[in-house]
Amino acid sequence: MALFAVVAELAERLAKEAGKLKKRAAIAETISAMHAASPESEDSGLLALYLAGTPFPEADSRKLNAGGALLSKALLAVSGASDQMLTAAYRRHGDMGAAAFDLLPAARAEKDPELTLADVAETFAAMAVAKTTAIRAALVEGLLGRATPLEAKYLLKLMLGDMRIGVKQSLVEEAIAAAAGASVDAVRRAVMLEADLGDAVLRAFSGTLHEARMRLFHPLGFMLASPVETPEEAMDRFTEKPAKVPVANAAVIQGVEAFLEDKYDGMRAQIHCGDPDQPGRVAIYSRNKEDVTESFPELEEAFAQVRSEVGATAGSLIPCSLIFDGEILGWDFEQGRALPFAVLGQRIGRKRVSNEWRQQVPVVFMAFDLMYADGELLLELPLRERRNRLEAVVERLVERVASPLVVDERARDSQAVLFAAEESASVERLIMSPSRLVESAEEIDRAYADARARANEGVMLKAAGSIYQPGRRGLAWVKLKRELATLDVVVTGAEFGHGRRAGILSDYTFAVRGDKGELLNVGKAYSGLTDVEIGEMSAWMMEHTLDDQGFFRTVEPLMVLEVAFNNIMRSGRHASGFALRFPRILKIRTDKPVSEIDTVMRVEEVYQSQVDKPVE
Ligand code: AMP
Repeated sequence: MALFAVVAELAERLAKEAGKLKKRAAIAETISAMHAASPESEDSGLLALYLAGTPFPEADSRKLNAGGALLSKALLAVSGASDQMLTAAYRRHGDMGAAAFDLLPAARAEKDPELTLADVAETFAAMAVAKTTAIRAALVEGLLGRATPLEAKYLLKLMLGDMRIGVKQSLVEEAIAAAAGASVDAVRRAVMLEADLGDAVLRAFSGTLHEARMRLFHPLGFMLASPVETPEEAMDRFTEKPAKVPVANAAVIQGVEAFLEDKYDGMRAQIHCGDPDQPGRVAIYSRNKEDVTESFPELEEAFAQVRSEVGATAGSLIPCSLIFDGEILGWDFEQGRALPFAVLGQRIGRKRVSNEWRQQVPVVFMAFDLMYADGELLLELPLRERRNRLEAVVERLVERVASPLVVDERARDSQAVLFAAEESASVERLIMSPSRLVESAEEIDRAYADARARANEGVMLKAAGSIYQPGRRGLAWVKLKRELATLDVVVTGAEFGHGRRAGILSDYTFAVRGDKGELLNVGKAYSGLTDVEIGEMSAWMMEHTLDDQGFFRTVEPLMVLEVAFNNIMRSGRHASGFALRFPRILKIRTDKPVSEIDTVMRVEEVYQSQVDKPVE
């Protein structure tokens, strides 16, 4: 029976080791040893899973349901530390696991480790089904009560899903391959299909990686796009360079074909549906792989209609299991176009969606890719072929993937949605994103202007022959969205960061100038600067603090920044009456005096120049 101490000690070593090769070797060695000691047990699989920072395999939808509040209470209970001690330790490290190591009595380090990996797995399983917080808290306390300080450190990190040991899942996959003498590609493929790192270890050792089959209802990675600044640059990306080709062959050099689509400003999502073994089950995953199905009941209802069909020959079933990639959009059914992101944004994250929200912000799914269909993973097919399949699927399903605008809320909990469907009009929820081949920069330029006129963010270009690369920001997809003008602002306040930035003032609130020369806050940014710049900024902020409120400090308004952003919203959050969406710091403008920062008038101008002026 393997001990959890092995995981904790290895994790501690990995955290201190910078070299990737050494990390991989250390993980592989431990997996091998654990497998050799007990080839039939799940220990080596659990080791892989826990090192990747996941209490359960991805395909397993169980959750620990233990957040920071519950865990910190449990830590206080078993350590006997005071609230103040915990706050101080947390502030020192920005990490509860590291805080636990400081707070647990040193005497505990002397005791022999007793927790096995199986104990931890059992406790996690019990937490997932615990009916009350009290039961869950007791389970955590039981676990921490038996742990050494080092084990407690990594148990907490694992429960919070944030190991911070510089080990990504991909490195664990490489280590599994090395340990079992299997190919890395075969391991990665099995993990992608079955989403179970633990099973992949067993498969790798038993030589059955090739038997892995795709399971629905776990998120695949999303393919992402790289930014380009101009249509010419976009065209350039898709054009083969004639450089080293002999002149005689010049005629065969052609521009690579690219599909152009609008870039919609909604929420990226993957929809799984139509599994014949689980009729009616639908899962919607967000870009960060969270299950967000609950937040979009009308899409769940609509995609639940995707079922296997009886075929032409008696008794045969046409399977219909599908994974779509696309964008959830707030939709104006009258005008047939997307609502601004800020409108959709109001209902993102809501778990219970009332009829009012369903009516105020109706949603549709704009599909732009098909990743899986009827037992076949389509990622390796060229986009051209995936689009063909998508078109055929959408054509077949479009009328069926519908749900009512509003439902009978009293009946909802008794699963009477189908009755309600008769009461209010159903609307189609699946749209295929219009897409066409482009050949010149002028065409892209025109399409960009058209997309903006439809209030979309810009355009996307995708190489027609490209495969789908999950989780990669490749060059096969590019996005063209011109930044709005930037703003010069002055920092008025700073906040301490978390994790790696604990103890460093890394989040900056900034202002523009009002009509009477007063400073009015307009946003807050924490990205765009290098670690060195942040270090310097932080030291400067400490020296120029006007008011120290603990986590937040008001600072002398002397530091000018140039910030970029995706768009400007009207908002009551800041004194200026505006808020910036996705602000990023472009430059520290030591060259610019505070007297020359931008004004609220200028913010208003930029706001008005947006085709889709969002209101928060
Ligand atoms: P960004 O968020 O700027 O990195 O842009 C990438 C995002 O664009 C994706 O995650 C999608 O949410 C979004 N997007 C909008 N329209 C499309 C489209 N037609 N194809 C692919 N991604 C799109």
